[in-house]
Amino acid sequence: MPEQDSTAQKVAIVCANMIDIRRCLSSGPTGDAVLDDLVATARSGGDVTAAVNTLHEVLQAVTSDVKGLHAYGDNGRTDRGPHGGPVSAPGLRPGEPVFLCPANRCTRHWWPQGPVPVPRCAISGQVLRQDWL
Ligand SMILES: [Zn+2]
Repeated sequence: MPEQDSTAQKVAIVCANMIDIRRCLSSGPTGDAVLDDLVATARSGGDVTAAVNTLHEVLQAVTSDVKGLHAYGDNGRTDRGPHGGPVSAPGLRPGEPVFLCPANRCTRHWWPQGPVPVPRCAISGQVLRQDWL
C-alpha cells in the first residue's frame, strides 16, 4: 500500500513538526488554514490523504522548495526501519519501550528520553501511546 504509506509518513512529519510548519505557513499568502483542515479531518476520523497532499503543495509554494513537507522529515524519527518493517535504532533490543502515534494515523515514533515528558501527537492532541519493540 505505497499510497497509504506515504500519507502516513507525511502525517508523521506534520505530527512531529507542527509548530515549525505552522510558522512557515503563516508567512505565506494562504496562511495556516490548510493545516487546520488536516487536523480537523484527522480528528474526525476522515481520510487525510487529500488534506496532507494539499498541505505538501502549499508548503512547496510558500518555501519555493520541491521538498515541501519532506524538508522537515530528516530528523530520522519519522521514518520506518531500514527494511520497511518495525522501527529499529542502534542500541535498542526487542522488548524496549517505544512510543507511537496514539491514533495510528502516522508513522511517528519516539524513544523514551530520560525525564523528558512523553510528547503529544500534534494531530490528535493525545499523548503518544507506549508500545514495545
Ligand atoms: Zn501522530
